[in-house]
This record gives sequence, structure tokens and C-alpha cells, in this order.
Amino acid sequence: MAATHVFRESFVFGHKELTHWFPSHMARSMKKMEGTMRKVDCVIEVHDARLPFAGRNPAFRESFGIKPHLLILNKKDLADMALSNDIRKRLRQEEGIEHVMFTNCLQQNSPSAKKIIPAVIDIVGGRERFNRAEDQEYSIMVVGIPNVGKSSLINALRRMHVKRGKGTKVGRLPGVTRSLMQRILVSEQPRVWLFDTPGITTPFIQNVEIGMKLAIMGTLQDHMVGTELIADYTLFTLNRLQKFRYVDVYNISEPCDDIDRVLADIAIKFGRTRKLKTYEGSRREVLDIHAAASILVRDFRTGVLGRISVD
Ligand code: GDP
Repeated sequence: MAATHVFRESFVFGHKELTHWFPSHMARSMKKMEGTMRKVDCVIEVHDARLPFAGRNPAFRESFGIKPHLLILNKKDLADMALSNDIRKRLRQEEGIEHVMFTNCLQQNSPSAKKIIPAVIDIVGGRERFNRAEDQEYSIMVVGIPNVGKSSLINALRRMHVKRGKGTKVGRLPGVTRSLMQRILVSEQPRVWLFDTPGITTPFIQNVEIGMKLAIMGTLQDHMVGTELIADYTLFTLNRLQKFRYVDVYNISEPCDDIDRVLADIAIKFGRTRKLKTYEGSRREVLDIHAAASILVRDFRTGVLGRISVD
């Protein structure tokens, strides 16, 4: 089906202002994390497996790069896992990242998430304990950009490693900023503590294209970018990757690069219309293109349109 269709080779962005997409409050939480970081043995950086490179913040790696580091590419159930070996190789070659795990934190008793604590102990145990050799306990911290599954991962760890009734066991660390101060026990043998508030890093948006990749994943606020534009970039991405499941899902006659046509077909299929007041004062029913755009974006994000790796 793919070869016979001609699609856009590049996406025209118009005059999108990047600065609008940059959430300034996150820069503040990054500062806050730096204080806590001294007390941490291993940093778990969580990112979206569909986007293993774009948006990860190099400033974070520069500040905390000497700490043992585990990169967790979460939502592997939505990613094209055929690419996982290539991704590991590129991360090692381009960024020197040795420890990478793919996880699905929503899965009950997730076998992938179960390997996290043993991996951390392994990574930390094999090295100098960073001036904390006398300390028999481990402290870990989960960081990453919004919406990649940090909280889900923390919850999965607690469910798996902390016996019922001990879930609320919390330790206080003196001298650490209030919102990052709480630690919870996530393993008893050996004792591993985890800061219960994930550190939020700012997405790194070098150019509009990376901004759009983050936007289709739901990492930026949709209204900042515009749902119709996100939907158009979603369609562009699906066609670029030759992921044509949308054709069947929405009863479209063939793969199509025209977002207006695709959204009209989606609106028709789902019966999404809205009333429009005409100049003469009468009301006319028209297709609700905004609702259709939301459906396309939602289906893409939840895997209805297939497993996809965008980077
Ligand atoms: P945070 O902002 O990084 O803490 O992200 P959350 O833990 O709040 O998760 C963001 C969204 O992604 C939620 O809707 C989760 O249900 C979903 N999510 C988290 N982990 C996974 C995963 O492994 N697979 C899938 N499909 N969804 C996930």
C-alpha cells in the first residue's frame, strides 16, 4: 500500500515561536533537584521509549553526569521494539549511556519493572560509593520530563517491593528542600530508598521539529501548540513511518497526507458535529474538526494506531 502514495517530505511549521512552549516553572524544579542530588547514589532518568533521544535534557546529564545513571525508556508497549538494539547502540555510541532498560509500568507485576532495583544495586555496587562508603543504604531518585511515566514507575516499584502496610514508610532527610525531602523504602534487602517526588526536568527543544515530536507524545501542553497542528504532525509522522493502521481505524479509503480530509473522515465516523450560527441567524450543523483532531492525537498516544518510534 505504501509505495504508491506520495507524502510530504518535510513538515512546514510556519512561524511557531519556540519560547511559548518552554515551561519556565520547570527550570526552578531543576534547581531544587541539584541540592538533593548529592545524597543520591543512582539517578533513574525516565523517558518515553517512542522518543529515546529527542527532548532528553543534556543540562541534566551535565550537572549530574558523574552519578551512576540508569536510563529507563518507559511505555515500551507503545514503542516499536524491533528498534531496541539499535537504540541501545546509538545511546552507547553517541552519549556514552551504558545502562538502558525498556519498561511498561502499567503492566501488573511488570517483569521489566521488576528488574529495576536489581539493576540499580548492580550499577551502584560495582563502583565507588561516592564518599558514602560507610553507608549501607542506597538512595535513588527518579527524574525526567513530564508525562513519561515517572509517577507510574514509582508506584510500580512500591507495589512490587514494599509489603502491604509498609507502603507509607517514609524517611526524612535533613537539610533537603521540602518537596523533595520525603523518601520511601522500595527495597528491604538491601535497603533502598527512593525520593517519592520525581524530579521534573525541562524538555530540551533545540528546534521546532523536536518540539513537535514532544508535542505529539503529550509532553507539552496541547493548547500551547494547538491540537490541529499536533494532529497534522501526527499524520505526517504516521505517513513518514509508513504506519497506515489509521486507514482501517477511521474507514479512510487510502493513506492520505491531507489533514483536513482525514479529520473530516474521523468526524464523520464518530459523528462529531457542532452547530454553527450563520450570518442570517440560522443554525447549521458542521463537522467538529477540533474534536476529530483530539481523537487522532489520543489514538496515536494510546497505541490505537500502532506501535511507533518517532526518533
Ligand atoms: P509523569 O508525569 O512522568 O509522572 O507520568 P505519569 O506516571 O503520570 O504517566 C503519564 C501517563 O502515561 C499516564 O496516563 C500513565 O497511565 C501513562 N503511562 C505510564 N507508564 C506507562 C507505560 O509503561 N505504558 C503506557 N502505555 N502508558 C504509561
